[in-house]
Amino acid sequence: MAKKKTTTETKEFQAEVKKLLDIVIHSLYTERDIFVRELVSNAADALEKFRHQSLLEEEVFDSHVPLEITIDVDDKNHTLTIIDTGIGMTREELEANLGTIAHSGSNTFLAELAEAAKKDISLIGQFGVGFYSAFMAGQKVRVLSRSYIPDAEGYEWSSDGSGSYTLTPEKGLRRGTKIIVELKDDAHEFADEAKIKQIITQYSNFVPFPIKVKGETVNTVQALWKRNKNEIKEEEYTEFYKFIGNAFDDPRFRLHFTADAPLAINALLFVPQENIERLGFGRMKSGVNLYCQKVLIEQHSENILPEWLRFLKGVVDSEDLPLNISRQALQDSALVAKLKQVLTKRFLKFLEEQAKEDAEKYNQFFADFGIYLKEGATMDYAYRDEIAKLLRFESSKSEPGKLISLTEYVERMAEGQKEVYYINGPSRAAAESGPYVEAFRKKDIEIIYTLEPIDDFVMNHLGEFDGKKLMSADRADLDLSAIKSEEKPEDKEKGASLEPEVVKSLTTWIKDALAGRVKEVIVSKRLVDSPAIIVNPDGYMTSTMERVMQAARLEKGEPFQETGSKNLEINTDHPLIKQLSLLRGTDEDFAKNVIEQIFDNAQIQAGLMVDPRKMVERNYKILERATKS
Ligand code: ADP
Ligand code: MG
Repeated sequence: MAKKKTTTETKEFQAEVKKLLDIVIHSLYTERDIFVRELVSNAADALEKFRHQSLLEEEVFDSHVPLEITIDVDDKNHTLTIIDTGIGMTREELEANLGTIAHSGSNTFLAELAEAAKKDISLIGQFGVGFYSAFMAGQKVRVLSRSYIPDAEGYEWSSDGSGSYTLTPEKGLRRGTKIIVELKDDAHEFADEAKIKQIITQYSNFVPFPIKVKGETVNTVQALWKRNKNEIKEEEYTEFYKFIGNAFDDPRFRLHFTADAPLAINALLFVPQENIERLGFGRMKSGVNLYCQKVLIEQHSENILPEWLRFLKGVVDSEDLPLNISRQALQDSALVAKLKQVLTKRFLKFLEEQAKEDAEKYNQFFADFGIYLKEGATMDYAYRDEIAKLLRFESSKSEPGKLISLTEYVERMAEGQKEVYYINGPSRAAAESGPYVEAFRKKDIEIIYTLEPIDDFVMNHLGEFDGKKLMSADRADLDLSAIKSEEKPEDKEKGASLEPEVVKSLTTWIKDALAGRVKEVIVSKRLVDSPAIIVNPDGYMTSTMERVMQAARLEKGEPFQETGSKNLEINTDHPLIKQLSLLRGTDEDFAKNVIEQIFDNAQIQAGLMVDPRKMVERNYKILERATKS
């Protein structure tokens, strides 16, 4: 005892460390769990370092001891002990590592830390101060360490965090480091076995060394994403997916990738079999966890991938991130933003590769998960080119149920065609039988069928593809005249056309009859079989978009309302329009009923809502007259 006293040396902490400890001890109360994560992470680092060093050295101390982390809890004496068989520290290293902060601009950093601590944001370790977090829960911390260097001596480092620490030689230590945290009165929970197990499974589960609590290994899964792809078995991937995704299915796609530049990234991402949101489980949380050097930084990270990729499960690990970066700092970090961009682009590229490799499998993915890409197209301008390539649609030249890409569409565009055409409909059959495709059919021009309401928003946000404007076929300024194609022969006898003056007076009359309901009345160049069609003047939303708005208004209990912002095109070669022109002179009131009915029919074909009560009443009037003998 007497001998030991004489060899104990007391040392002052570096001024910066004192300040830091003051903040840690007096200002950081929240998220104290993280100190366990810090110490385990240091233990894992020490094991990693030893593993590497033992490959380089001829001789190491205690070469036989297994590489592992042992955690002991003593709920009588209120201590938590973390033992590793890693690289250990010499006396000099103890002094340098646990007595100073090796940090450039420590003063700024301390000021920032103090500021953050005032706001009660836990960001200990964000600046690499991990070890000192032990003083969040410990009234005294003892570090017993023995370096791997064969002739090194063991030492005990000890401190209550209040300005100085002691160093005492300690005989008989094994290689590695043992950290004994004597817990504060309000931190006894950290001597609870269950609590410690919970923290470890939550934060350190993928530490690639066994973590043993009472002899039992509590971390179950290895850091698979860090391993060489060629050495990983299919089942291991699947097991890992099930573990991190809480899933029961097998993954549909898997992307395991490693990059060194521009950022160090190890990512393992999975696309599940099931789209849970579509099964009616509500909005998903992000399924990707963010790690730094195998230590969990953020579970279900909302920072590492855009929200519209929330269906992905997996892990992203980047060594470039500071360990324990706080939530707030994650959101603001330029590094994280860059990481997110790199990952997103890589994943979208991966999907493109998959589509090339196995189109059928990709299309099935698109059928189940395409809605997320569409969400991305409407929300994230930055990736619209990449997303546009991944979209799939039915078209007038695809078999029903078969999907094509915009790339395919562009490849087979007709001579003189400069735009990509699409039309929305509730189903393919509805789109095909509607008036909008008549001109396309006649000129044999391909038209895409967008069958989901969101599609028009997607097309609208994309604006163009491969330099070609995306154009809804219900637009007033649709002009197919420059496109060279073989017109299909007319199969109907047209009869004599209306005189130009007659047409002019008819359109004026229609505009009056539909006052407030229509913007312009125009003679159609596109219609073949239908008498009339609703089209959208430039700058207005497509009918589908308007229908979505209408539905939203009705849901809120607002009364049905027509915007009167659409144009009506009439087909002056159609018998009904010709007869209407005559009817004006003989029975104008009835002619008004007829044009209103034509207008409503056209609205229905456009997918717009009409006032059913008025329409049915009028319809009966027309039928009554039609059945009169
Ligand atoms: P960081 O881990 O970011 O370097 P820490 O404050 O957590 O910062 O640790 C400071 C240093 O102390 C580490 O870099 C390491 O050199 C040393 N250290 C801490 N814990 C251990 C340990 N269990 N074994 C060996 N060295 C350790
Ligand atoms: Mg550390």
